[in-house]
Amino acid sequence: MKAQTNIFWLRRDLRLEDNTGLYYALSNNLPVQLIFIFDQNILDKLNKPYDARVEFIHNQLDRLKSEAAKFGASLKVYYGVPIEIWETITQEFKVGTVYTNRDYEKYAIKRDESVRQLLEQKGIDFKAFKDQVIFEKKEVLSKSGTPYSVFTPYSRKWKETLAEEGLKECDCKGLLTNLAKSETASIISLKEMGFEATDQVFPENEVDKEVVRKYTEQRDYPGIEGTSRLSVHLRFGTVSIRSLVKQALKLNNTWLNELIWRDFYMQILANFPHINDSKAFRPAYDQIPWRNDEANFEKWKNGNTGFPIVDAGMRELNATGFMHNRVRMIVSSFLIKDLLIDWRWGEAYFAEKLLDFDFSANNGGWQWAAGSGCDAAPYFRVFNPDSQAKKFDPDLKYIKKWIPELNEFSYPKPMVDHKMARERAIKTYKEALT
Ligand code: FAD
Repeated sequence: MKAQTNIFWLRRDLRLEDNTGLYYALSNNLPVQLIFIFDQNILDKLNKPYDARVEFIHNQLDRLKSEAAKFGASLKVYYGVPIEIWETITQEFKVGTVYTNRDYEKYAIKRDESVRQLLEQKGIDFKAFKDQVIFEKKEVLSKSGTPYSVFTPYSRKWKETLAEEGLKECDCKGLLTNLAKSETASIISLKEMGFEATDQVFPENEVDKEVVRKYTEQRDYPGIEGTSRLSVHLRFGTVSIRSLVKQALKLNNTWLNELIWRDFYMQILANFPHINDSKAFRPAYDQIPWRNDEANFEKWKNGNTGFPIVDAGMRELNATGFMHNRVRMIVSSFLIKDLLIDWRWGEAYFAEKLLDFDFSANNGGWQWAAGSGCDAAPYFRVFNPDSQAKKFDPDLKYIKKWIPELNEFSYPKPMVDHKMARERAIKTYKEALT
């Protein structure tokens, strides 16, 4: 007869240390089997064969498999449609309880609910924990009990709540001997799922303390390694948000605020779900008559606009799956305001390309630039790409890295006259909003 086992389902939390759901699974009295599902519903929507995010996950699963093996345990990796895979798992194991960490995206909420129902029919409990954020959903509310839609008061209340409640780290180290003992199974290859390895170099999952210390002065300069580059690790949970907040509290308040922006946009998604359906946070902004010129969009995507800071950013994105935050702000403003292209086109392109793509932060960033967001830039503020470049890349270090042909004849002339485009954008917005 099979022995009863609890299951821990890894998703956006690919680590064995300070992992809330795993901690509670291991604290129970049954051995714990680790599983991961390559979700075909998600993978089939990606551009095969190259998607560095799938490769990133695959590398991390290899690492987790080796870590589990040190405890005589295994990580079982499945590939398919989750609800069908769960039918298989419940036949393969005599499952006690399924543990996992909550995911706040629309598709994931629906998927988890159907898995919960399936397990319930079989008499199996499905327990999901908060792990991805410090505060979720309605944990940080205004005095009147409503969710915040402006960052500054939210961050103040977030800090007060943290001071009251403290960081709830979940140290799993001493509990890993409770992982179920089993043979190490091989992991399905990228090729078997229709993907190929890329030549992507992934950032480290640690940040140099000096970078955090100097963050306030350096973070806006894309030519300097002045930010943490941890976003892909936060996206897939290869680093714990609690461990970073702990560092931020000691080292730098500006950096702490950036981590709070992440929680802020996650709670916006939970409390204002209309943004899921491609809707502006502020409905009036859905009236703007976009120009949506396809040829212009192609120039923007390929980094051929003739505005060096915009082109450098887009080329960085296309080559590495990363773009510096200051430059994300400039390229998004350029697409929306200078070209009058619907912010949703840019949002979708970033979703396809960014290694750190996260629905809430990406939607938040794009709606901020469009002026349609919760705590957005006012619509009449239009970035001037050339003055932004002068200010934040004064020695052209970043621009020249991505545009070696900057001073050659082959580099395109500016695709629009910025002064005209700025006035056109303000007029278009004004007419649509009044
Ligand atoms: P650091 O500056 O070191 O910050 C530390 C961490 O704080 C980041 O890794 C990130 O998790 C979080 N953070 C920082 N700024 C923000 C922010 N404005 N909103 C939410 N979280 C933040 N970030 C994503 O993680 N995924 C996205 O899909 C995404 N899309 C964006 C789209 C646009 C148009 C804009 C303007 C910003 C977007 N951002 C997104 C936010 C930000 O640009 C990145 O988080 C940051 O550049 C990542 O670099 P880093 O890890 O070096 O960040």
